[in-house]
Amino acid sequence: MTETQALPEAIETECVVIGAGPSGLFAVFELGLLGMKCHVVDSLQHPGGQCAELYPDKPIYDIPALPVCGAQELVDRLMEQIRPFAAGFHLGQEVTGLVRRDDGHFELTTAKGTRFSAGAVIIAAGLGSFQPRRLSVEGAEALEGRQVHYRVARAEQYRGKDLLIGGGGDSALDWVLEFAGKARSVTLVHRREEFRAQPASVARMKELVAAGHVRHLSGQVGALRIVGGMLTGATVNCLDGSAVEVDCDHVFAAVGDINTYPGKKKLILSGFHEAALAAFGVQAYVYPGKRQFLQYTTTSPIMQQRLGVSGTGG
Ligand SMILES: Cc1cc2nc3c(=O)[nH]c(=O)nc-3n(C[C@H](O)[C@H](O)[C@H](O)COP(=O)(O)OP(=O)(O)OC[C@H]3O[C@@H](n4cnc5c(N)ncnc54)[C@H](O)[C@@H]3O)c2cc1C
Repeated sequence: MTETQALPEAIETECVVIGAGPSGLFAVFELGLLGMKCHVVDSLQHPGGQCAELYPDKPIYDIPALPVCGAQELVDRLMEQIRPFAAGFHLGQEVTGLVRRDDGHFELTTAKGTRFSAGAVIIAAGLGSFQPRRLSVEGAEALEGRQVHYRVARAEQYRGKDLLIGGGGDSALDWVLEFAGKARSVTLVHRREEFRAQPASVARMKELVAAGHVRHLSGQVGALRIVGGMLTGATVNCLDGSAVEVDCDHVFAAVGDINTYPGKKKLILSGFHEAALAAFGVQAYVYPGKRQFLQYTTTSPIMQQRLGVSGTGG
């Protein structure tokens, strides 16, 4: 069999959305309202992007009209909202190839070999494809998911434990603040003196360090202490050349501080608006001759039909 014959057939679709974070999910909704079908690809095994991966248990207070909403709850609500549009989901797959053909169509491929031929592509990739920077120390891989973590789910289970948290971005600092006073001990290990997290979080962390509630070490985890298959501690190689032994039951190598771009406000509500603009852009690109109307879901029979709610409005 030749290589060409071995290629799987491409999925034909009007649009592929790269990223199933809140922006990508809302893009599905906006495309659906405009009568367009799409497929969604995400490297994570579940939808929700940062909300589901980095802070599922946390409350969000700045979603318009929802005074408080859990991060996972927001994802669940978005999934519920887009259900009428039956988008195809391809999770656990990173988009590794994207080519614009001469005829304006796009060809996409994922690391698992799924192929798409799409009229348009919405890149809702947020901070980028979530690929945890794995702890490159002996024994870490075997403890992954049990005592070495790249995401924090069910925060309650770490109450009363000795925790070592690695990183200097928002996720790492967030978890330091979350667990201080709840865990038996919290040690923050960051390989630089400077932090990239919000200044307010850094200031609060420093207060906790000064009050003796958090230990802060500048350096990197050099080795794990594993006794009978269980993690009991770690050696931190500090920037000053010393090696410090830290007792810990769990190590978190926090992700989420990858990159930024000028002018972008990294808020969910910005993503929602950008998703709506993108959907209109996709419609204009795929159907250049079609007139675009701004319709309201409250009054548009066609949108209500697409949502499956026609006739229920009274
Ligand atoms: C601790 C923390 C607290 C926060 N609190 C708030 C808050 O209170 N209010 C607020 O508005 N915002 C908050 N944010 C920010 C908010 O989570 C982000 O603005 C939001 O998640 C961005 O959504 P998104 O869909 O654009 O991107 P993301 O949520 O980053 O999702 C992007 C998705 O794209 C996928 N992806 C990227 N590249 C590829 C690829 N090549 N192939 C396949 N998949 C790919 C990723 O795996 C990811 O799932 C917080 C963030 C953190 C870390």
